[in-house]
Order: sequence, then structure tokens, then C-alpha cells
Amino acid sequence: MVNAHLNERRHVFCLFLDFSKAFDTLKHSEIVDSLQRSGIRGKTLNWLEKYLSDRKLTVKIKDTFYDLKKVENGVPQGSILGPLLYIIYINSIFSVPKYADLFMYADDTVLVVAHEDLQIAERLLQKDYNRIQKFYHDSSISENQAKTKLLHIRSPHLQFLTEPKILSHSFDCLHVSIADTCHCKAVETVDEHVYLGIVVDVVSETNVCPVAGLTLDEAAAFLAGVRARRAADRR
Ligand SMILES: [Zn+2]
Repeated sequence: MVNAHLNERRHVFCLFLDFSKAFDTLKHSEIVDSLQRSGIRGKTLNWLEKYLSDRKLTVKIKDTFYDLKKVENGVPQGSILGPLLYIIYINSIFSVPKYADLFMYADDTVLVVAHEDLQIAERLLQKDYNRIQKFYHDSSISENQAKTKLLHIRSPHLQFLTEPKILSHSFDCLHVSIADTCHCKAVETVDEHVYLGIVVDVVSETNVCPVAGLTLDEAAAFLAGVRARRAADRR
């Protein structure tokens, strides 16, 4: 996909998002809503709701148990249903971006926007990043801003005057209004980033993955194989 954009002389922006502890922070009510939206109703929904509600945790050190604490957030860790509930919930993120392509593997998420005009690509990515951040805020998932990175992939022949700048807006900016003068931090722009074990770098001259010497199509096929094996291992 990136190659096709580069052949059309487009700037490609990849925004690698890092959201922490997503499994732990989802509100139970949000999980139940997402199950309902996915078509799960009646007794099954009631059963799942009860499965999530009234869960309590304690810590045991030697023979001493500490006070039970009620768990209001998160899917039950170590359970079979936990990852499934998370996937059903997080699946709704794919309807959030309007301009960008969104790719996700577990919690590794990347937004990709491409356009011939750098400023337009920047604007569209900013809009979708705002939407994604809002979605995560509303889901009580916290963003690790220091680990969110922007990669600007382009042909070496493509000229541009200013480096792109994508802002990571605050909760107030996103939920009240974004002022022109807000002081939110810009996402760090990097020259390369490791995504699912493959190094993606900025300038595409040879269309060759720098790690394994594979073409990008071969790297994609390799990646699909890794995903399939990981999925098989989990079963
Ligand atoms: Zn802001």
C-alpha cells in the first residue's frame, strides 16, 4: 500500500500509537455496550454482564490475604474470555478514522494517511488522530504520548519545505474546543520505527525492507505468516 502511494508521488504519514494498559482500563459498562452493538443480546448478554460485574481481587502474601477490592475496569486477565471481550470492544475503533487507514495487531496501532499535498496529509491525519484519542479517552484507555511516533515516508525526489507537525491534544482540547494557541505537545517525528518486528524507514529508494533484504511484498507475506503462527500458538 505504501509503495502504491509512493509511486503516485504522495507523502505517506504513519502515526504509530502507543496506548498503555488497555486490557486493564476498559470500563465494564463500555464492554457490555460494545457486546450489545455486536448483536449479543438476551441471556448471553446477561451472563456476560454478570461475568464482568462484582469481581473482586485480593493479594496473598504467604498466608495473609489483603482486603478484597472491587474491580470496575478491565477484562479478566488470564481468562479465555478476556482477550475475546477486548477484541470485540476494540473492533469498533475501525469505524473511528475518516481519512486514514488503520492497522492494528493486538495493541500495536498505526494510522496511515497519504496525499500529494503535505499540508493536506498533515491536516487529515491530525483530524483522525484527534478522533482516535477521543475514542481512547472515552474508553478510559491512556495514551503513552512519549512512545507515539510519526514517520513521514516519501520518495527521495519529493521536495518539501517544512517538516510535518502533529499535535497530541489534551483531554480539554479534544472535549471542549481546540484553540489555535493551545500548548499541546507535538508527536515526535522519527526516521525509522519498528512495527511488528520490521523496521519501517523514511526514504523509500529501493522498496526493500532494510532488515531482511526482502521486498516489501515479501516482508508483508512474511508478516502474515508470523501473525498466523502467533494466532495458532494462542489456540
Ligand atoms: Zn491542544
